[in-house]
Amino acid sequence: MNELVERYLSGESSVPLAQEYGVTPATMRRKLLKAGVVMRPRGGKRKLSLADEANVVEQFLAGEKQEYLAALYGVTRRTLCRTLERAGAVRAARWIEGIHIVGAIAVKRCSSCWVTRPLADFHDDSSKRDGMRSNCRYCATTST
Ligand SMILES: [Zn+2]
Repeated sequence: MNELVERYLSGESSVPLAQEYGVTPATMRRKLLKAGVVMRPRGGKRKLSLADEANVVEQFLAGEKQEYLAALYGVTRRTLCRTLERAGAVRAARWIEGIHIVGAIAVKRCSSCWVTRPLADFHDDSSKRDGMRSNCRYCATTST
């Protein structure tokens, strides 16, 4: 594996190297990271596959740092961030009392009807600590 790392550092690209050594690109990236190698940015053009997206969200919710995941999956921080935002995981990661994670979905309990709902069911409110209104959009509609 040292040879693989050396060849990567000398400028060879990771995908053909992984093929040559009979490992998946993800395994390859993990090995490079373990060896302390900073992956070269790939210009952010690469999009995550659906399977990778699911893994990224899962690992992120499990507490992995965005920097680490971006390097592991070979995408830019921006791409990673967009992926997490789409999955509703970024808000969830800003852990605030009252927000829980069910599967990969962050939820919060409405202060009016006490129903636990996905975060998408709460309107934004920047004055609130968690950035959302305390009651759900259904209650918000009926009370105004
Ligand atoms: Zn409600």
